[in-house]
Amino acid sequence: MNLILMGPPGAGKGTQAEYIERKYWIPRISTGDMFRTAARFSTELGLQAKELMDNGQLVPDEITIGIVRARLAERDCAKGFLLDGFPRTVTQAKALDGILADWNKELDAVISIEVPTDVLIVRNCGRRTCSQCGANYHVQFNPPLLANECDICGGELQHRSDDREETVIKRLAIYAEQTKPLTDFYAERGLLISINGDQSLSAVFRDIVESLQERTRKEV
Ligand code: ADP
Ligand code: ADP
Ligand code: ZN
Repeated sequence: MNLILMGPPGAGKGTQAEYIERKYWIPRISTGDMFRTAARFSTELGLQAKELMDNGQLVPDEITIGIVRARLAERDCAKGFLLDGFPRTVTQAKALDGILADWNKELDAVISIEVPTDVLIVRNCGRRTCSQCGANYHVQFNPPLLANECDICGGELQHRSDDREETVIKRLAIYAEQTKPLTDFYAERGLLISINGDQSLSAVFRDIVESLQERTRKEV
């Protein structure tokens, strides 16, 4: 299955991506995680991306498309993939069409998680991420068993540097302006699945699974 997971910052993409990855055995490709890893290792790309990310801005299309093209060429993507946080602009979406066409692949669905803005601000500001394995928590809605320690690997939890309120507001504005129009782009092709993300973690996942099952039933 070739899937895209869309939604504003804090919608729950990373959280749901972990569940989808485990249920369908397809690799999750998170451009945000790739940039954060590059930043941690202080590569040239990482340092450039970090400055933009901390400012709430997008990394240039050319760079982002390049890393996704290389990642999709890896062997584990042959059986399917889940793109989390890509594409984010019309240019990226068109480039993805080109990459997939080169390999005779097609998208199966684009899942868009919808959440009201006031909820998104609380979710982003309370987000904590494991510094070792990247698992996601929320101080209030999805707390770890031990304060500041990852349930899965024991790693230290961190507050993302772009999760300060003023940066979150900027990221939400960029989403509305540059990324939200992609829902129409995919709806016109009959690929869009809109999911109500303002529910519990398990209810959101249940709706995603049911919608995907409904689509595959229709295709048979
Ligand atoms: P995204 O990848 O879309 O930015 P995350 O998956 O990182 O979003 O979720 C943002 C924050 O909100 C995290 O702290 C996460 O634990 C929390 N969260 C995610 N989904 C829900 C939900 N359905 N209800 C409450 N909190 C949630
Ligand atoms: P969220 O969905 O919570 O905003 P991500 O982890 O997906 O977080 O992205 C974090 C940051 O990484 C973005 O604000 C942006 O700076 C950069 N980034 C991630 N994906 C892309 C992309 N497809 N195009 C440009 N920049 C990106
Ligand atoms: Zn961890």
